[in-house]
Amino acid sequence: MTTTRFAPSPTGYIHVGNLRTALMNYLIARKAGGTFILRIDDTDPERSKQAYVDAIQADLEWLGLSWDRIERQSERLDRYEAAADKLREMGRFYEAFETPTELDLKRKKQLNMGKPPVYDRAALDLSDGAKAKLREERGPGVWRFKLDQERIDWTDGILGDISIDAASVSDPVLIRADGQMLYTLASVVDDTEMGVTHVVRGSDHVTNTATQIQIMRALGGTVPDFAHHSLLTGPQGEALSKRLGTLALRDLREAGIEPEALLSLMARLGSSQPVELRMSLDEIAEGFDLGQFGSAPTKFDANDLYPLTAHKLQQLPFEAVADDIAALGVPADLAETFWTVARDNITTRKDLAKWWDLFRDGAEPVIADEDRDFVAQAMTLLPPPPYDGETWGKWTSEVKEATGRKGKGLFMPLRLALTGQKSGPEMRDVMRLLQVVRARG
Ligand code: GLU
Repeated sequence: MTTTRFAPSPTGYIHVGNLRTALMNYLIARKAGGTFILRIDDTDPERSKQAYVDAIQADLEWLGLSWDRIERQSERLDRYEAAADKLREMGRFYEAFETPTELDLKRKKQLNMGKPPVYDRAALDLSDGAKAKLREERGPGVWRFKLDQERIDWTDGILGDISIDAASVSDPVLIRADGQMLYTLASVVDDTEMGVTHVVRGSDHVTNTATQIQIMRALGGTVPDFAHHSLLTGPQGEALSKRLGTLALRDLREAGIEPEALLSLMARLGSSQPVELRMSLDEIAEGFDLGQFGSAPTKFDANDLYPLTAHKLQQLPFEAVADDIAALGVPADLAETFWTVARDNITTRKDLAKWWDLFRDGAEPVIADEDRDFVAQAMTLLPPPPYDGETWGKWTSEVKEATGRKGKGLFMPLRLALTGQKSGPEMRDVMRLLQVVRARG
């Protein structure tokens, strides 16, 4: 059975880059009628925070990305210990004692000699006595997995055939000197024991994948299908990594972005398929095809989310926004009219408040010097509110007759006087909602 997982580390809020990973894994599972696991990679007790676990769940719930199961690595440490023991028994795990400074020095030397900076496995030559001495002097060492120095091949769901020479990769550290289990081993054990069949993650994990395949094989696990999506860049191709903090899902939500807009964009961006607004995850899943994604860096522009958001809102029936509108204090008898009038003039739901403020309090009039007398005269012909759907037509006919103005010269100064803006809903509709006309003096 198809099983995928989204495996965030709860060390921060999740952002658009994480969403891409989550969504791809979610869609693969949903399309296949399989299982989607939310796996919290919290083996780092210092950096992992419960508040982030809660936030990750809330963000996924907001998007409707429901998981079938949640797993926490911090609750599975005994499994990782067992795997570590197994690797030790097999002679694939060794303790190494170099300090970070020593490792750095080795790397620099190798680079100076034009060699790749791969760990030289000096620890493999240590006698038991030497190890005991080092352990006494320096405390416990780190534990490294001994790679088989052969090529590691897989057919990547996005990148195609990949072949990595294990000799060009350092034996990965799986357990830190302080005993902390590192992600690589935890992830391998989980993917194997949880029956994960497909792993989609960012292309920054390609080298990890090579080592993880070897560890999986060593532990006798089934290697899943891997796919590595490209990383996101800004609209000009600039690295996004530093700005991802400002592209947290909760910030986008706070900015008024609708979930469907975000999902529709992220499920297609970087693929050969067009980005079109889809109103449900089912519809998004229908056309989703991992094979359509390219390996080139994917440009992401948060501004693209706004037209999609506006488009979504325009499709909503009144019932879907009735609560938002009631919360603004729009009287019940005007609420539906307010929605039909405002919805084509908003980008996000937040804009509703601006329109209601305007209708409720009237706008600061904008009157050009040359229109001052004209507007003053027009205002003498306008009765006090409330108005209805006929008011605008009647009033402008009277003003036209009285002043001789017509067309834009007649309508635009009146729109500006009543709404303070050059554009907006039909004035006939504005009048139905306008509670105060400040230009009346
Ligand atoms: N916790 C890892 C990360 O966020 C998971 C990577 C993976 O999908 O294996 O990078």
